[in-house]
Amino acid sequence: MTNADILALSDATQLGVYARYPVAFVRGEGARVWDADGKEYLDFFCGLAVTNLGHHHPGVTAAIHAQVDRVLHTSNVYYNEPAARLGQLLTERSFADRVFFSNSGAEANEAAIKCVRRYGANVLGGRYEILTAFGSFHGRTMATLSATAQEKHQAGFQPMLQGFRYVPFGDLEAMRAAVRPETVAILVEPIQGEGGVHVPPDGYLRGLRDLCDERDLLLMLDEVQTGIGRTGRLFAYEHDGIAPDVMTLAKALGGGLPIGAMLATDRVAAALTRGTHGSTFGGNPVSCAAGVAVLEALGAEGLLDHCRRQGERVRERLEALRRRLPLIRDVRGRGLIWGIEIDREARPLVAAALERGLVINVTAERVVRLLPPLTIAAEEIDRGLDVVEDLFESAARGGA
Ligand code: PLP
Repeated sequence: MTNADILALSDATQLGVYARYPVAFVRGEGARVWDADGKEYLDFFCGLAVTNLGHHHPGVTAAIHAQVDRVLHTSNVYYNEPAARLGQLLTERSFADRVFFSNSGAEANEAAIKCVRRYGANVLGGRYEILTAFGSFHGRTMATLSATAQEKHQAGFQPMLQGFRYVPFGDLEAMRAAVRPETVAILVEPIQGEGGVHVPPDGYLRGLRDLCDERDLLLMLDEVQTGIGRTGRLFAYEHDGIAPDVMTLAKALGGGLPIGAMLATDRVAAALTRGTHGSTFGGNPVSCAAGVAVLEALGAEGLLDHCRRQGERVRERLEALRRRLPLIRDVRGRGLIWGIEIDREARPLVAAALERGLVINVTAERVVRLLPPLTIAAEEIDRGLDVVEDLFESAARGGA
């Protein structure tokens, strides 16, 4: 099938919930992908921060093949070895003692919300309220949408679930002032991804940790987008030398297969006892085998250093471009998650990049987001940024 065939068939039958570009990718290798018409692209998007190790990673592919040849699914009524091993790796490499596996980021956050509410009910005398930040994104289910403080996502779906209140992101004093007797937890992303790649001021996470300790609150970090090496550390909270009480992961954890995880300390995880939560597919052996391979690959010597070095390269070039072109309002990011805020709609630029064989993305309408694989070569970073520079310069001259 061609791009056009796939597009026509999809649009004839699927809900129109996505603003899609007219391309279907059929193959990937490292930082490159090919569409159904055979055109090659450089991938600075990673399927939205999912294929952090690049496409067709040999370790991940082999682990998936091996597990597919054994068994696909067994049920959480029984144990399975890939989930056992992934739980071991995640707890060894993070603050957490316990893991619950789900199938997506929203479901990981659902588990986290339920866990924290039950902890509040059982241990903290019925506290239930979770403070979240304006501009946040935590998922599309009703509870995670209620945690997501963005009017455009909530519009038409009211009433939201009770028990969430919103505070400006990055403002420690506003968060402190918002705490009430019924507050049980604070939930934030270490860097807001969907909200426009917003990096909080230095010391913000440390300040939230201290506030939580002072007021006996739980700190919940949504690392669905920032986790699994994206910011140059395995988990973004490591940059701040703090540990949360609860963390959620998804996206890159399965290397491209669906998986989510809610991680917590023993103290908090104990709130979810037998029968209080579950999932048919959570901890699926194939997704977990992929997750084990992803974490093993990320543990390899030098990969996170490489990501940080490439991130500095991106920062330098984007900063230089911002100084040259007034249409660029701001450049924000860390490691290999970058947002370029411009003075106009970003979608035409992203469409023009696709024409030129570069896959990038728009978030928050005016922010061009770059999410290249952590394994990307310096030469590929330069090649992609050359296209970005050209496009911005042409837009500044009044072109596309
Ligand atoms: N949390 C964050 C920070 C995200 O960026 C996303 C998705 O973009 C989600 C949660 C929801 O994840 P999913 O789409 O897997 O449900």
